[in-house]
Amino acid sequence: MDQIMTICCKCKEHGWRCEESRKIVYEDTRGNKYCLFHAPPDEKKDNQGRPLNRDNFNTAFFDLVKKKSEENRDALCHLTGIVFHGDIDFGKHYSKEIVPKMNLDHSFFTGKVSFCGLGIKEASFNNARFEETANFSHVLFNSQASFHSAVFHKRVDFSNSEFCEGGMFIAAEYDDVAWFEKCTFSGDMLLHSARAHSNAFRMHNLDESSLSYLRLKRLDVEHFSFSECVRWPKHFGFENEKHTSIRTLEELYRALKQKAIEQHDHLQASHWHFCEKLMQLKQLFDNERSNNLLEEVEDRDAKWLDRAKAWFKLLWHRPHWQKLTLTGLYWATSGFGERAVRAGVWLLALIVLSFVLNATPQPMDWNSMWGATAANATLATIPFAKDIPGDGWVKAGRGLWQFLIAIQFTLFALAVRNRFRR
Ligand SMILES: [Zn+2]
Repeated sequence: MDQIMTICCKCKEHGWRCEESRKIVYEDTRGNKYCLFHAPPDEKKDNQGRPLNRDNFNTAFFDLVKKKSEENRDALCHLTGIVFHGDIDFGKHYSKEIVPKMNLDHSFFTGKVSFCGLGIKEASFNNARFEETANFSHVLFNSQASFHSAVFHKRVDFSNSEFCEGGMFIAAEYDDVAWFEKCTFSGDMLLHSARAHSNAFRMHNLDESSLSYLRLKRLDVEHFSFSECVRWPKHFGFENEKHTSIRTLEELYRALKQKAIEQHDHLQASHWHFCEKLMQLKQLFDNERSNNLLEEVEDRDAKWLDRAKAWFKLLWHRPHWQKLTLTGLYWATSGFGERAVRAGVWLLALIVLSFVLNATPQPMDWNSMWGATAANATLATIPFAKDIPGDGWVKAGRGLWQFLIAIQFTLFALAVRNRFRR
């Protein structure tokens, strides 16, 4: 019984099995005993009961890590729930490559903490609390960076770091900003369900490949700030995960578009508008073959010939009615108002077709068909239509063509405007 009573309550809670558990330095008013590593910062004492300063505590901590890593060889050092005594700089203590594998879950970093420039084979910071700034810049995370439910009260900096296996930041809390400038992600970055201010995640200057590993939901969009992300991946968000519905993606892209509009970022607003509309069209098609062909047509890295072939295949592939909906026609004739060349080609085609029809001898006199007089009379009732040259069906045909060219010209003008507004 006595033996149980002399064990640090936190060591017991976190399952520490080492002699440190029995070196009690502090007992609170409720009779809970604490070892040096779990005691509050002001109650940390040496073997003689004298107050321990920050540097001596940090030395004791690094000695403990050394001891545990030697005992466990290659296993994760169990260092959970430690209450640190002010600032600590792991970057200065360890050489670049050799950092022991550490489980620092539930740790309380009371001062500034820095891992700057280190190569971390494996480390876990789940439920850790960072009272001051945390510096993880220029860090190479060899395994998944684990920060599930971590709390950052001040700025956290991951700039220029490499996440080889991605990162787990689900349900983390941020009172300030988290910098992810020039980071490299090579595995899924799970940043959802965070509690953060708007624009807290500064995703600046990320490349196409890194962006493709970001996994976010519509509700998380407000936390993200994208800047200097020049190229976006073809698949973004949850798009390459089979279980995510196209509707979910449409909502995500709409939220991203809305945010870009609020920030007056026209380039991104255009990009997300296109993605959102494409998802609407995919939902209309609702079959894999058509949607794959759609992707091929829109693959801007593919050859023109392959894209044209995919276009014709899509034209022949059933079902057809979706292509004649407003969304389908909007896509085909102007790329949702975002593809100026496409809109221009269609406009030119309409004019050329008109020339060809007028230059070809007609097989019959169109006005000898039934209803020519009525068509003439009807056109006289439509404003602006009475001045169209010709009579009867010829007049009606020209009127229709004028209408088509006016619409296509509007789409072309819209696409040109969108292109140059960027
Ligand atoms: Zn303890």
